Amino acid sequence: MDKDYVIGIDLGGTKINSVLSDFNGNIISQCTIYTEASKGKDHVLNRIMMTIDNVLKSGNKTIENIRSIGIGSPGPLDSRNGVIITTPNLPFSNFNIVQPIKSKYNVPTYLDNDANVAALGELLFGAGKGTRNMIYVTVSTGIGGGAIINGSLYRGNTFNALEIGHTTVDPNGPRCNCGNYGCAEVMASGTAIARQGKEAVQKGENTALAKYENITSYEVFKEAKNGDKVSIDIINKSLNYLGICIANIVSSFDPEMIVVGGGVTKAGEIVFTKMREVVNQRCFKVMAEACKIVPAALGTDAGVMGSIALALIEEGIEL
Ligand SMILES: [Zn+2]
Repeated sequence: MDKDYVIGIDLGGTKINSVLSDFNGNIISQCTIYTEASKGKDHVLNRIMMTIDNVLKSGNKTIENIRSIGIGSPGPLDSRNGVIITTPNLPFSNFNIVQPIKSKYNVPTYLDNDANVAALGELLFGAGKGTRNMIYVTVSTGIGGGAIINGSLYRGNTFNALEIGHTTVDPNGPRCNCGNYGCAEVMASGTAIARQGKEAVQKGENTALAKYENITSYEVFKEAKNGDKVSIDIINKSLNYLGICIANIVSSFDPEMIVVGGGVTKAGEIVFTKMREVVNQRCFKVMAEACKIVPAALGTDAGVMGSIALALIEEGIEL
C-alpha cells in the first residue's frame, strides 16, 4: 500500500489539533479536542492517540497509508529522543512522547518545539516558500524563533538554537523568567507591553489605559493609535527593543527573509515599519537592504501546517 499521507499534531496546553494531509499539505481530515492537561500525562497521550485514530477514520485511511507523524509541542524538549523535558501548561516532565506512539502505530514519529515547527511550516507552505535562508520569529506572550539555514532547520548543539527571546537587548532591563536581565522577551513581548501598561496605571500616570480592568498588549496598541502619550511611549520603546532583537538576527545570520508571526504582529504595519527602521539603523546596509521582513502567512494554522512540514522534511520529502 502506498504511504502517501502524513499526520501532523499540534499539541497545546489547551487543545490538541491533529490533521491528516497529503504530501502537498492538502488537509484530508482534521480533529481538534481539549488536551485535558490536568488529568495527567497518560491521559494526554491517550487523547493524542485518539486524534490519530480519528483523522484516519474520518479521512478514510488506515495507518498503512501513513508515511510519518510530526508533533509540535511547547518546549523545552529533547527532539532527538522525542522527550518533552518540561512545559508550563502540560503535565509532562522528561516524558518520552514519541516512543509510545511509534510502538503503537509503527510509523516514524518526530517531535520538535513549536517555534521550529512553525518555521518549517512557513518554509514549506507559508511566507518563506522558496527561500533557503530564513528566520522565523514569533512575538506573543513570549518571543521565540526557528532558523532555516541552507534549506534545513538549524537546531544547534543542544537542539535549543534560536532562543532569541532570551538574547539581551538591555543590560539594565528587568529580570526575565529565565533569570537573565533585559531579555528581548521581558522588553518587547506582548506580556512586556501589557506589563508596562499596567505599571503606568499603577503609578497613576495620566493615561487612557486607566479605564480598562484588564490591560493586554491589544489595549496598549489601541490607545497608542488613539494618541495616548503613555501608550505611544510604551509601544515605541518596546518595538525599538524588538527591532534590536531582529537587527541582531540580521547581523548574525544574513538571512534573505525574516518571517514574523505571533499575536503582537496583529497590530499590523506599525510593528513592521519599526522593525525595518531599526534594522536599517543598526545593520550593514548590504544585509539590511537584502533582507525582507514579512508577516507570517499561516496564522493560527502554523502549528498543524508546521507539524505536517516536520513529518515531510524529516522523511526527506520535498515539495
Ligand atoms: Zn530571558
